[in-house]
Amino acid sequence: MKIKFLELKDDYARILFEDTKPYFVNAIRRTLIADIPKLAIETVTIYDNTSALFDEIIAHRLGLIPLPTHLDLLNFRKECSCGGKGCPSCTVHYTLSKEGECIVYSGDLRPEDPMWAVVDKNIPIVKLLKNQRLILEAEAELGIGKEHAKWQVVCGIGYKYHPVIEIDAEKCNLCGACVEACPRGILEIKRKKLSIKKIENCILCKSCMEACKKNAIEVWGDENRIIMQYETDGSLTAKDALKEALKILHKKYEELEKML
Ligand SMILES: [Zn+2]
Repeated sequence: MKIKFLELKDDYARILFEDTKPYFVNAIRRTLIADIPKLAIETVTIYDNTSALFDEIIAHRLGLIPLPTHLDLLNFRKECSCGGKGCPSCTVHYTLSKEGECIVYSGDLRPEDPMWAVVDKNIPIVKLLKNQRLILEAEAELGIGKEHAKWQVVCGIGYKYHPVIEIDAEKCNLCGACVEACPRGILEIKRKKLSIKKIENCILCKSCMEACKKNAIEVWGDENRIIMQYETDGSLTAKDALKEALKILHKKYEELEKML
């Protein structure tokens, strides 16, 4: 099996898997969505809230804020040596204290250590009018997407078969109908020849096949070559999320082997 990053940013990846099968890439996809540990706020103690929103709504909003996740420093709280009471190895504390008139943003959450500062500081939580106050403490812990969406690292994930486009030059009369029909503009007539540019952009819609009256063009997906793309919410980088997913899959197969 071969792997190639077609595009890689901190929070986005587009990956080509070669010599593989759809069920294997699907296993990676499902692990990316449901099994990667991530830090999120789980417990909120509200000392004062005179804003227009209920405590519960504010707690829910806090839970959904992406927090940086250093997996090498944290354990799951229920598996921690502290017995689930909460210690620096499993729990991260935040405080928030604001008085109106202002908008409370995610960046107003103060972590116990700057390394845990929220990823996106501009998420609005609540608007405070004059003299309204919000004072609270929050505890964040690790969880997985299977338990709650706030612990889901990866979003907008999907994959498609790598497109294959075959042009029969003998049948093609260079009418240009397929070039016009393609919604992604990947076909062009160059030097009296129909050619393909950036084949990865093909969405396998087969509009070109339908437009061609001579049946000179054929499009299909190669299920041994798969293009997967996804975003992360910033708690982990796209590359770290993939590495973690592979580690988890590996562990699961090892456990299965031991049982056998
Ligand atoms: Zn602990």
